This record gives sequence, C-alpha cells and structure tokens, in this order.
Amino acid sequence: MEYKVHISGLADGKYEYEFPIGMELFEEFGNTLVEGADLKAVVVLEKGSGWMNLKCEMNGTIITLCDRCLEELLLPMNFNSTIAVKHAKLGEQQEVSDEFMIVDHSEGELDLKQFLYDNVCINIPLKKVHRDGECNPQMLNKLESLNPIDGGVEDKDIYSPFERLKELMNKR
Ligand SMILES: [Zn+2]
Repeated sequence: MEYKVHISGLADGKYEYEFPIGMELFEEFGNTLVEGADLKAVVVLEKGSGWMNLKCEMNGTIITLCDRCLEELLLPMNFNSTIAVKHAKLGEQQEVSDEFMIVDHSEGELDLKQFLYDNVCINIPLKKVHRDGECNPQMLNKLESLNPIDGGVEDKDIYSPFERLKELMNKR
C-alpha cells in the first residue's frame, strides 16, 4: 500500500486525498499491539507560496487486546492533526520533529506512511481496557486465580473445589 502524495509542480491551493488504512501498515512497522485496523485517513494538503501543510482526519477503529481480560478490544479512532511540511536546505542536517515534516527538494512526492502510522500510534491510549462490566468475566476469573491480587486466605475460601483442583493441577 502506497501513501504518497505528488507535490512537484503543484499549484497553490487545497488538495484532498483519501487513504484506507488496514492491518498491513501496522505489520510493516512490526507493531504487535494492533491486531486489526479499519481506518480511513482524509488528508488535505494546503499549499501557499513557500509553505505547505497537511491536515489529517482519521476515522475508524483498531483492534487491540484489553489490558485487563486479554480479549479483543475495539478502539474507535477519530481525531485530527496538522503538520507543516518544510523543504530541506541543501546539506542541512535533517531534523526530526512531530511538528513538521522535512521533504527534500529533489523528491517529487511526499510519503505519508510514517506520518499516518505515528498519528494512529500516539492516539492509542496507554491504558487499553473494556468499559466497566464489558470484560470477559470468565477470563477475569481465570486470570485472577492464576495471579491473585492479594493472595489472602479469604480469597482462597471463595474458590469452588473445582477451582482449587484446577489450581493444583496448574502448579504441577
Ligand atoms: Zn477486557
């Protein structure tokens, strides 16, 4: 999948592009956090005399795993971002910044792959969990029995005999 925008000889004005984004973008970057993706990026390139910027509107969903119950979690992604595009001066050290994108004069196109990927990644919340009550209860029980939070005697007493048996078998 290509995420390129042609810029050489572009007249001043606004240009709109659409990029569907699927799992392959995340696979390409070796991202194992994302299990599925169904996104659409609408990119508006605005060009004036001597300046250029990109506005990106991202909509869709990604699938990741819930931190609490480890089951699939659908995360809606709806956000906007803007980045300025600067031309690199000859021989200048290329800076890396999230406020602007550097493009070489010799390049006739902008590759938005990294930009789009970073955009999604920074919008994935640090804590990825289902809403309260939406976690898989069986999974939660299983995880809790494997790794009791306080391991107290009280907790053990509420286990069913079957749970205890399972725990003993697991320890072998
Ligand atoms: Zn969950």
